Amino acid sequence: MKIGFIGLGNMGAPMAVNLAQSHEVMGFDTVANPQGLTLAESNTAAAKDADVVITMLPNGDILRAVATDIHPVMKPGAIHLDCSTVDVESARAVAAQAQAAGLKAIDAPVSGGIGGATNGTLTFMAGGPPDAFATVQPLFNIMGQKAVHCGAAGNGQAAKICNNMILGVTMIATSEAFVLADKLGLDRQAMFDVVSTSSGYSWSMNAYCPAPGIGPQSPADNGYQPGFAAELMLKDLNLSQMAAEAANADTPMGQAARDLYAQFVENEDGNGKDFSAMLPRFEKRTRP
Ligand code: NAD
Repeated sequence: MKIGFIGLGNMGAPMAVNLAQSHEVMGFDTVANPQGLTLAESNTAAAKDADVVITMLPNGDILRAVATDIHPVMKPGAIHLDCSTVDVESARAVAAQAQAAGLKAIDAPVSGGIGGATNGTLTFMAGGPPDAFATVQPLFNIMGQKAVHCGAAGNGQAAKICNNMILGVTMIATSEAFVLADKLGLDRQAMFDVVSTSSGYSWSMNAYCPAPGIGPQSPADNGYQPGFAAELMLKDLNLSQMAAEAANADTPMGQAARDLYAQFVENEDGNGKDFSAMLPRFEKRTRP
């Protein structure tokens, strides 16, 4: 398969490198210039001969702009596979634009972070036509370990933001529970041993514990270096609240998590830290 890969940042570069082991990949990025890839001079040059064009871009506005550039030059019937995390509305607009140009579009945001991108162990959650999903399945198998078809265009993004809304909420709940436990004189290891096997368990507690030295290795054991940065969590919580507003869904915990991460990133010292640094944030605080 000939693949165009646009957006070769922290995630895109290792994904493209993995694909280049067994496919012809032509990459492009406005800034990044990663080793080990054949690079084109423009988005359109990377896209024009490709059977599948993958985009891995920062946000929906940039995705829409790139789609407007590349769709007119793509081969008839080619697939635009967008793996960025963007708003549901942009994903659906890009899919409609692709269809109008005689192309197919799949939105397939990922979970698994830079480690997953490097090791080829990402999880993809995809929206779009089933035949196009089947065509790109071999690429998912190279870049990841699992791909779930979630339905029509935009449903991949819907799954991603619902998942990350739960993640943001549970990380805050887990962090504030540790602080309450500290103040009640409950040992953190005892707290972990109970909660991780009781009804309060979650990925935030069991797999990515925000307390240093407790549970499996996590960014808490590395000075809260990301990992998954607090500002990326804020991006995803903004996307889930945008979607909730557009769909008239009541998501008060998602809103509270969004507001806390916004406060942490924009007005406190959260920028550049892992999203689990919510625990030291709560440690410094008392009831308002
Ligand atoms: P990044 O900022 O490292 O990479 C984005 C790249 O896009 C940059 O290299 C940038 O130069 C390039 N770019 C911007 N505009 C462009 C254009 N018009 N044409 C070509 N290239 C352009 O970001 P990332 O961490 O690689 O994340 C990419 C996407 O994946 C985001 O949507 C992010 O939310 C999502 N994501 C990231 C992670 C993570 O842990 N980093 C995890 C899951 C999902």
